Amino acid sequence: MLHARRVAALVALVLVAASASAQSLAPIRYTVRFTAPQTNYLDVEAIVPTGGQPSIEMLMAVWTPGSYLIREYERNVEDVKAFDGNKALDVEKPVKNRWRILTGGAKDVRLTYRVYSHEMTVRNNWVEADFAMINGAPTFMTIASDVARPDAGSEGPAYTWQRKPIARPHEVTIELPAAWKTSITGMPSAPDGRPNHYLAPDFDTLVDSPIVAGNPVVHQFAVAGKPHFLVDVATGDADAVFDGHRAARDLQRIVETDLALWGALPYDKYVFFNVLTGSGGLEHKNSVMMMASQWATSTRDKYVDWLSLASHEYFHLWNVKRLRPIELGPFDYERENYPRSLWISEGLTDYYGDVQLARAGLISRDEYLHALSTAIRTLQSTPGRLTQPVETASFDAWIKQYRPDENSINTSISYYTKGAVLGFVLDARIRTATNGAKGLDEVMKLAFARFSGARGFTPQDFRTAASEVAGTDLSAWFRAALETTEEIDYRPALAWYGLDFGPSSVKDDDKARARLGATVSEASGRLVVTNVPRGTPAFDAGVNAGDEIVAIGNLRVTPDQYVARLEALPPGKPVTVTVARHDAMKTLTVTIVDPPAPMWELRVRANATPEQQAHLAAWLRTGSR
Ligand SMILES: [Zn+2]
Repeated sequence: MLHARRVAALVALVLVAASASAQSLAPIRYTVRFTAPQTNYLDVEAIVPTGGQPSIEMLMAVWTPGSYLIREYERNVEDVKAFDGNKALDVEKPVKNRWRILTGGAKDVRLTYRVYSHEMTVRNNWVEADFAMINGAPTFMTIASDVARPDAGSEGPAYTWQRKPIARPHEVTIELPAAWKTSITGMPSAPDGRPNHYLAPDFDTLVDSPIVAGNPVVHQFAVAGKPHFLVDVATGDADAVFDGHRAARDLQRIVETDLALWGALPYDKYVFFNVLTGSGGLEHKNSVMMMASQWATSTRDKYVDWLSLASHEYFHLWNVKRLRPIELGPFDYERENYPRSLWISEGLTDYYGDVQLARAGLISRDEYLHALSTAIRTLQSTPGRLTQPVETASFDAWIKQYRPDENSINTSISYYTKGAVLGFVLDARIRTATNGAKGLDEVMKLAFARFSGARGFTPQDFRTAASEVAGTDLSAWFRAALETTEEIDYRPALAWYGLDFGPSSVKDDDKARARLGATVSEASGRLVVTNVPRGTPAFDAGVNAGDEIVAIGNLRVTPDQYVARLEALPPGKPVTVTVARHDAMKTLTVTIVDPPAPMWELRVRANATPEQQAHLAAWLRTGSR
């Protein structure tokens, strides 16, 4: 039902063409079984061709593209064994994520292992009695010499290394437990048309193709003649609460709106996996793994968040999966890859995620402006924007963005947030320079035409393309925006669209909390400081993350009293704050201030000119003109 004959036929043609030109390597043939899914394990059997070598080394990726942290997937692997027929072979482990099989001259070896699969995130595996959600990197080993860097010990920029295009097919058969009806993946179906039988032309495609097995609820629609699937997955009935019909209808509008921007859909089919627990999304070339609440369609705010997630992830199939920074391919699966342009790959994707919702008519102009205002306010209230340039934030994603700690607010800036805000400012800049003839849409399309091939783009390539579209040299703007921590000048963008900033709405509780400035949480009935942003009274007084606030003005304070007690303090006067730190009590003197009300809410000027109103309409309605 899900794997249309037309798609299977296309795939067969592509494979024939590829194998004729490539080195016709023998495939690795995997079978994935769920013999006891209720125990959260999956079983893998792989028939691995040895090429007649006395030993072969199998590798498991330590991270997965799109999520920049070493995950050590090999830690979930158990019981690795290898056989020649039924004869057991010796298996050694030279490093944490590799297994060396002594083949004894066998032409093929049978490799078996089990994977503990109980992490409900978009980049790992989940197996339970009702369903399985499996990703390539944490599941499938491959032959190390096919994909590994030959100079695995040496350092240097990853992008100076270009992996040879070794296109070894990876065949996957999913054996379903009796109670499960189907499996679904973006991976091509195998030419034999057997159900649950897939064939990835290479390891990258295998890693890029998550698989869901079980009894999902599937909604199908077509755009430009291509099938699209919304696959709702949950323990029990996936659409019991979630409104899958409405979601699929609106996804179709997102697809149509993106098609209008880019001009073509560069895939044969596309799968929106929608696991109804957890949160997050991970993009792939022709699918996305999303996680969201069952109640994501139950309120307007939650639904807009879900649409925004889906729109962001879908936009990625162009921006990052095909139009990619030079550093992000071919992937080195065994170590960090260091992109400098995640402000483009993630930030501009965030910008377009919401812009395209407005253009699709799925959110109103004012809902859009409010979402953008939230990003601007978040950026402008993060002290780390004055510490970390956004290209550095991208490069250091592995140690900052993906490893946040209590001081992150002071030391780093999100390339999602700043990148999205830069998208708004850059788009307006190009529109202004071309008197509305062109915008960021044209930059993205030019960049896609130039750089979506094998090489990818350098930071300079993108800057040059933008300057070309703008018809003016933007290099000074890019340098300041990307390589420094200079504050962003919003005035040209506001002037082009006829916008200005008004007061952001702030809850009274938050106003009171801002008088001390520390972020606190309640832990077992105690008030514990979680962050201390630079530039706040708490920071200046030496309040530390981890301190328990015990008293204010020598009077005991409990979590439920905290806000009222702060509200009652006179601004401008010193007050004592007693904290428990380790085993000691410490009294600090804090000068309470009322911070100025934030003014980051975008609104249309009452006196906006007809030209400005036209610019605003052109931006959010139907593309750049
Ligand atoms: Zn993203």
